[in-house]
Amino acid sequence: MAKLKLKKKVLYRGVILIIIIIAGTIIGLNFYNDYEYKKTYEYKLIEHGYTLEEAKTLIDYFKEDKYFIELLSKEKNSYILDLIKEKYYIHDYLERYIKYADKNKDISATEVVTLVNVNRDNNYYENDIPTDISKDILINVNKYYKLEENFEPENLVDISLRYSYADNKVTKETNDAYVSMWNEAKEAGYTLIVNSSYRSFTSQERVFNNIKASSGLKEADKVAARPGHSEHQTGLSIDVFEINNQSTATFKDSPAYIWLKENAHNFGFIERFPEGKENITGYSFEAWHWRYVGNDVAKIIHDENITFDEYYAYYIENAK
Ligand SMILES: [Zn+2]
Repeated sequence: MAKLKLKKKVLYRGVILIIIIIAGTIIGLNFYNDYEYKKTYEYKLIEHGYTLEEAKTLIDYFKEDKYFIELLSKEKNSYILDLIKEKYYIHDYLERYIKYADKNKDISATEVVTLVNVNRDNNYYENDIPTDISKDILINVNKYYKLEENFEPENLVDISLRYSYADNKVTKETNDAYVSMWNEAKEAGYTLIVNSSYRSFTSQERVFNNIKASSGLKEADKVAARPGHSEHQTGLSIDVFEINNQSTATFKDSPAYIWLKENAHNFGFIERFPEGKENITGYSFEAWHWRYVGNDVAKIIHDENITFDEYYAYYIENAK
């Protein structure tokens, strides 16, 4: 009897011991997991006031880049989340966005992303970027992107006098697209006419230097592009008016301009310097200046209501 009692006691102690070991292991593992979790970015971000969802978004975007480590040591920065939500946000430009926003406190995150994307955090003509001419009909030329002096489009053709004043050349595909557009406009009751198109580096230089000589550099920069910076050198641009309204002052109020705004993209043309986008394009509103980019891109630019500069930054530079 005493032996049996002893056996029961041993068994009982054994069970208790096992329970203690199991419980200890569970508690220990929990502590360990907790300790490990506290080392994660997710935990650190939540500690700094981000929600779980925001923390996950940030980790997704930043992974382990150098800026992220800095972010972990600071209080919550809601502005970064605003930037990331922007449709045209480019991650490589984050430091530039933040710098630009610091200098321009009164503008929205949308404006910061838009303006930095098109290089407005740099002064015009300060650091010329050589234009990538392999982009063909999507070559970008503006106050930042520059064409070389000897660049001349390969397939220049004369625009027929039926559609244009004399001595106007554009690339063959620009001409074909323009003729199709001209015919459609004619059917709608408008007779389009081109009064300026391809300009060589030297002719642009002449125009610019003449204004500079008579009115100074500041005035010349206002009304003309510096040589190498004019889109007219690409052979993809036309200055187009309607036969009954050829004034730069009033063409914007003509029904022909409205027609172009609604239809030009169907022929691969975009309005290059739209009203209200002067700060993005770097140019005053020019209702007459239309640029050939091909149908697909023209449709995107038209539908998303963006400028070619914005398109180029997000869909071409960013996609590299
Ligand atoms: Zn023009």
